[in-house]
Amino acid sequence: MKLLEYEARKVLEDYGIPIPRGVLIHSPAELGPAMETLGDRFVLKAQVEIGGRGKRGGILVADRSNGPAVAGELFSREIGGIPVREVLAVEYLEIQEEYYLSIAIDRSTKNALILFSDQGGVDIETLARDSPGALRRASIPVLMHDVPPFMVRDLLGGAPKELGGIINRLYRVFCEKDALLAEINPLVATPRGIFAADAKLVIDDNALRRQGISQNRDLTEREREAERHGFSYVELTGDIGVIGNGAGLTMATLDLIEYYGGRAANFLDVGGGADQERVMHAVRLVAGDPTVKVIVVNLLGGITRCDEVARGIIQAGISQPVIVRLAGTNEKEGQEILRQAGYRMLDSMEHAVKAAVEAAR
Ligand code: GDP
Ligand code: MN
Repeated sequence: MKLLEYEARKVLEDYGIPIPRGVLIHSPAELGPAMETLGDRFVLKAQVEIGGRGKRGGILVADRSNGPAVAGELFSREIGGIPVREVLAVEYLEIQEEYYLSIAIDRSTKNALILFSDQGGVDIETLARDSPGALRRASIPVLMHDVPPFMVRDLLGGAPKELGGIINRLYRVFCEKDALLAEINPLVATPRGIFAADAKLVIDDNALRRQGISQNRDLTEREREAERHGFSYVELTGDIGVIGNGAGLTMATLDLIEYYGGRAANFLDVGGGADQERVMHAVRLVAGDPTVKVIVVNLLGGITRCDEVARGIIQAGISQPVIVRLAGTNEKEGQEILRQAGYRMLDSMEHAVKAAVEAAR
């Protein structure tokens, strides 16, 4: 789950990383009292879950005379299609240098990958493309408690040594907050010292409970409902709904869809021992996605009974066609129930998936 800047910077502050003074406001009217603590000039920053706010008009500089008008303007904007509901007002920093610092998971080495550049401020993809030499990297096994001094030295190159402390603090944030990404861009040098002028933190969804986060804001309404039913559900961008039992079988179904030239709309694993009601909820949930043209149900009965599955599919009573492959416990009964109700039954997952791909066309 992505934290918003104002949440992420509080975490940085807890770990001793300096951040500019700031106040979160929910309307232009709240800027008045906020200005008392901010000084003559300040920066108004839209709190939206999207990068590159600067380029998209989500970061505006203001002063005491035009502050309320500028805030009004920012609150009336949409940044990358997202309406602005919260604005972080921070003191204006006299920036002398902008650095880039991030720590992310490197899945190939299973290490933390630390990136540092003394050309911060711009977006990292641009930097990596246009001046790859300016981006220094260090790979560190996450079992290590600190970034060793030799790595810090290599990362910094000629940049001020005091940034080394920030690297180590951000590394602690990264490890202790179960982050997938911790990024400060820009990390700035000012006449008053170093500050994290921006903050980005993505928490591993599997660690939300441990981190005391009760709800994953990044989930869609349907993903939230799936969570309530205990389904493993991920929304994708295609038009073929997928329901399977077991992560392996469901993944194999997705692979076959790709193989036959189709695009899956989702991944839904109903889990083991799904009864009629669970199957009904699963089918309705997938069918509720307006992009789904056809659903392929690929279930292997073990504890799950195929006749229960069949009744669940029928009970769902959805409008899109459902193509079914059922095998295992009570498969004869299940197949008979569905056949009588006019459903398309296919005897192998290859045939079922192929039929679904054709139906989606
Ligand atoms: P992002 O575009 O979403 O990454 O938002 P940032 O918080 O990184 O702000 C974008 C850019 O605005 C930064 O790279 C800075 O160049 C500039 N900026 C932000 N805050 C200040 C500030 O206090 N002083 C100055 N001079 N520039 C700022
Ligand atoms: Mn930034």
